[in-house]
Amino acid sequence: MKMSIWSVEKWRISIIAFTTLVGGLLTGEWLISLAFSLFFYIVWMYHKLQQFYAWLANGTKQENAPDSDGIWDKISYQVLQTKNKSVNRKKRMNALLKRSQSILKGFPYAAIVLNKNNEIDWNNKKSGILLNVVKNDRGQLINNLVRSPKLHKLLAFSEDDDEVEIESPKNSSTQLLLKIIEIGPESKLLIARDITQRNKTLEIRKNFISNASHELRTPLTVISGYLEMIKEDESLPKALVGQIDAAYDQSERMRSIIEDLLTLSRLESTDDIQDISVDINIERVINHVCQDFNQDISIKIETNEIIQGVETEIVSLCTNLIQNAMFYTPKGTKIIVRWYEGESNNLCFEVQDFGKGIPEKHIAHLTERFYRVDKGRSKDQGGTGLGLAIVNQIAHRHNGVLNIDSQTGVGSTFTVCFPG
Ligand code: ADP
Repeated sequence: MKMSIWSVEKWRISIIAFTTLVGGLLTGEWLISLAFSLFFYIVWMYHKLQQFYAWLANGTKQENAPDSDGIWDKISYQVLQTKNKSVNRKKRMNALLKRSQSILKGFPYAAIVLNKNNEIDWNNKKSGILLNVVKNDRGQLINNLVRSPKLHKLLAFSEDDDEVEIESPKNSSTQLLLKIIEIGPESKLLIARDITQRNKTLEIRKNFISNASHELRTPLTVISGYLEMIKEDESLPKALVGQIDAAYDQSERMRSIIEDLLTLSRLESTDDIQDISVDINIERVINHVCQDFNQDISIKIETNEIIQGVETEIVSLCTNLIQNAMFYTPKGTKIIVRWYEGESNNLCFEVQDFGKGIPEKHIAHLTERFYRVDKGRSKDQGGTGLGLAIVNQIAHRHNGVLNIDSQTGVGSTFTVCFPG
């Protein structure tokens, strides 16, 4: 059984005291005797230090640990413990690293681990197929291998949900979706997914909707025209008036849906509006739109800044939001329309109503096509369920953002902020 540190050290101090005593008694020179005892103690300590240093320098192996007791034994024990802990930690880290690498190897996406300078630390096989980045490229800057301003921007500043679409540097007909995942302050993971097929399917769906709407437009206009003629014919038997009126209303509703679908596909067909943009005076647009509605609307113009955009689209955006505020609130409800300078010099168009508001669970879905909160009311008002999808698309085309804030029983605020 090993003795505790202090009993061993007390034992050593006793030996020093004893040798000093014997030396002092034999020679009568107490100080010299003490000096001799201490000298031998220091030499012994120095020898222990030498042993300890040699052990540390030779890799602190357990079997070579210096044979000692007392404080020296405790020190070597602590050194061994710390070493074992760090070895175990290293083993665990290596196992973890191997496991993550094998997951990423089998990943259906290209995965590239980048260091904080955007140099490639590691990449999987798929990154060779999609991004032309192979094992030999490790250590190189990703920007030098995948030349894309969009990737450059994503690497410089990206938030959690940011994704960009680029053409594959290996094959220009392959479209990739890139995303950055931060994995600590020192590294990040760049993921690239092949979305060529997904984009083709989306394109086919968009074209189908656009073609179907085009094909339906003419026959519906004819049907609607005939129904209107019959409706206005005074010789129409009274028994049929109700049915013809209903048929005419439904055909008009279908026409509105088709017109909105065509508007949406036109808005989605191109993103670049630079060539068709003009200066738009929003104050004029608001006054013009509000004139058409027979309701008291409070207009607050707090800035005379203008924006660049497509005037017909901005008119449609304002009309949709103001119309909704009137349709979905009881008659006479207060409505405020504002044009003001928001945060970071943004210019914001806002429509606030004090109606019954929209329950929170619906808010995230309002810009989806055909999403309606109050289906009955929307249909009665001739709503298509596409108005906010159109507003959102127009805002997006003008680099703006639509924000919806609503509280049941208090009212709703729809804000579109454009970069100033
Ligand atoms: P719709 O053609 O049905 O009006 P929208 O896309 O414009 O379609 O609006 C979607 C749904 O959002 C509407 O059906 C309505 O239920 C709800 N909504 C829109 N604006 C308001 C508002 N100001 N107050 C309450 N509900 C609203």
